[in-house]
Amino acid sequence: MLDALSVLVRFCCPNCGAGMKGSRADGGSVQTCRRCGESIRVPGRQHPFECDVPDSPAVPPQALAGGREGLRLLSLGHSLVVVQGTLIVAAYVLWAALEGLPQVLDRDPGPWRTLFLAVWATDLILLAVQSGVKWLGYQKCEAAAFAVESVGWVTLARFSVLLRGLGYLMACAPWLMASTPDATSPLVKAFVQIGHVTWMAGLLGEFGILVVWYRLLTELGDAGSSAPVARFVAWTAGLVLTASACVSLTAMTLIILLRRVAPAETPAQGVRLNFAAVPVEGWVMVAGLSVLLTTFGLVVAAQYWGVLKRVERSLQPAPRS
Ligand SMILES: [Zn+2]
Repeated sequence: MLDALSVLVRFCCPNCGAGMKGSRADGGSVQTCRRCGESIRVPGRQHPFECDVPDSPAVPPQALAGGREGLRLLSLGHSLVVVQGTLIVAAYVLWAALEGLPQVLDRDPGPWRTLFLAVWATDLILLAVQSGVKWLGYQKCEAAAFAVESVGWVTLARFSVLLRGLGYLMACAPWLMASTPDATSPLVKAFVQIGHVTWMAGLLGEFGILVVWYRLLTELGDAGSSAPVARFVAWTAGLVLTASACVSLTAMTLIILLRRVAPAETPAQGVRLNFAAVPVEGWVMVAGLSVLLTTFGLVVAAQYWGVLKRVERSLQPAPRS
């Protein structure tokens, strides 16, 4: 299945032995040999033998240099995402420790309002810098992606970064307006929902860049160099499944605990849960699952960093023999 993602096939001119390459999509069409002029049909798959004369490099030197620069910017952008995530998680943990989780869920920072406003401001600055750095990084990778016929995926990733940032801002609106969940107007709630969807669309769209990394690695790297991409995809899928399982499990347990400990507190339909009534073991469970998911998230972040490094290394110019 992954083989279908590789775009180039290499073959030799049967007349003079010159190396040639063509797009897999062009299989069956006719190409002219640049050396002897012979007309050759592009094969559906790679020829297993070495050609007498090597063909032109898959990615031109200028595109390699631009790509390396782009990858360095993307590594920086990725690190900023991790810093931003860590800051937010730390702020929530601090908030919960100072005021208790019910206050966090009610968006009530109490006397710590100024401190948390400073954290939000830092968060939004990091968001702006991170999006700008990634935008530039993807732009610089376009020439290299063009050589492996994946420029559309880079453009998709670039605009997805903008979409993700915009969605994040929209979803933050009630927090920044410091309105409590009960006081938030339906209009703002709808705005936040659109923000969530926009953010999700941006997040999914940016995953398209993995096609580019895979193609560059199979084209330029040694055998097996694209394995980190597959590993990253597997871990990300694992994280998404674990996170959804954890969230539903926690919600179910909290409701059961609320029923058992304080039956009178069990909310009627459409009434928000009274989190103040959740017993301590409920919060221990929430904390345990948060630690598990944070660790999982950091492993996935480290793996993506590895993918970026691997692609950057594959974009080194070939050593002259
Ligand atoms: Zn030829």
